[in-house]
Amino acid sequence: MIKFLDLEKINNRLRREIDLEIKEVLDSGWYLQGEKNKEFTDNFAKYCGVKHCVGVANGLDALNIIIKGYGFTDGDEIIVPSNTYIASILAISLNGCVPVLVEPDIKTYNINPDLIEAKITDKTKAIMVVHLYGQAVQMKKVWELAKKYNLKVIEDSAQAHGAIYEGVRTGALSDASGFSFYPGKNLGCLGDGGCITTNDDELFEQIKAIANYGSDRKYHHIYKGINSRLDEIQAAVLNVKLKYLDSDNEKRREISKYYRENIKNPLITLPETYDESAHVWHVFPVRTENRDEFQKYLGENDIQTIIHYPTPPHKQMAYKEWNNLSYPISEEIHKTIISLPISPVMDNNDIDKVVEIVNAYR
Ligand SMILES: *Cc1c(COP(=O)(O)O)cnc(C)c1O
Repeated sequence: MIKFLDLEKINNRLRREIDLEIKEVLDSGWYLQGEKNKEFTDNFAKYCGVKHCVGVANGLDALNIIIKGYGFTDGDEIIVPSNTYIASILAISLNGCVPVLVEPDIKTYNINPDLIEAKITDKTKAIMVVHLYGQAVQMKKVWELAKKYNLKVIEDSAQAHGAIYEGVRTGALSDASGFSFYPGKNLGCLGDGGCITTNDDELFEQIKAIANYGSDRKYHHIYKGINSRLDEIQAAVLNVKLKYLDSDNEKRREISKYYRENIKNPLITLPETYDESAHVWHVFPVRTENRDEFQKYLGENDIQTIIHYPTPPHKQMAYKEWNNLSYPISEEIHKTIISLPISPVMDNNDIDKVVEIVNAYR
């Protein structure tokens, strides 16, 4: 069986280093807000090219805390793509803000910048872009609109650690960015984890406090904050794994290139990219008319796949009020998309087998 993502194999490559780091945390007796957290957030800020990084408990919290940090609240509108993982939208709803959905571009699967301006009202406070499937959003138009209407730009970078748009990494393409270190992400820890990156000094002070019970110093609470921290063990593991992020992303790029050059089947639409360095191939999504039948065929041939995602957010029960709305491009994507295996630990035999089996599909 070719696994969609062999996490055990990915982490076992670094087992000795990870074991040592975890042992250091255990021996230190210090489990939260310590040296490992400081070291990792400094390293990750440097990696992204930003001034500040704050560790938090997961990717949803990262986005939620950014919105709280800017003080967006009841009735404020935030623009967000209709084709995304539901977390981007939940972070907006959690704060009483109104998610305003904008359709994606069918070629990039990311928000279509040309459709944003029509959705801006006098209640709009921010544009949240999502670098979906690992590809950095083409930001030019988004920045122009933000400037013209005085809006904040927020990135959901949960799927795109290390992706580069015009020389700048995700995490540094907006006012503030949320990352997830969920185990299956390109940079993943051994449980839940996340962080926020920003160049905004004032926001930095606010989010640090909000993530720590609204406290700027011990037992002194200036906000009604939450508890959302990146623990020392996860930070220590991430310190090890960050060193390998670029080479792992390079391996994903090679596999993606090989798939794009060698999969030749008129029934399968391959993903494209506007620039090889802009994409870190968190997943390799292809589209096909009879998607469920194709998935069954691959399964029978020992190839594991996952669908990102089977149901768009506006058709979920959680958003009953939107169920009758129509976002045809998103719906088309969710109906036809399927992700093939891609990971830094696949070997050439696995890759060739995927190509062969996909090409033989009729
Ligand atoms: C994974 C993910 C999140 C949420 O991250 P968690 O750490 O699971 O909370 C948010 N947005 C996108 C696009 C994601 O893929």
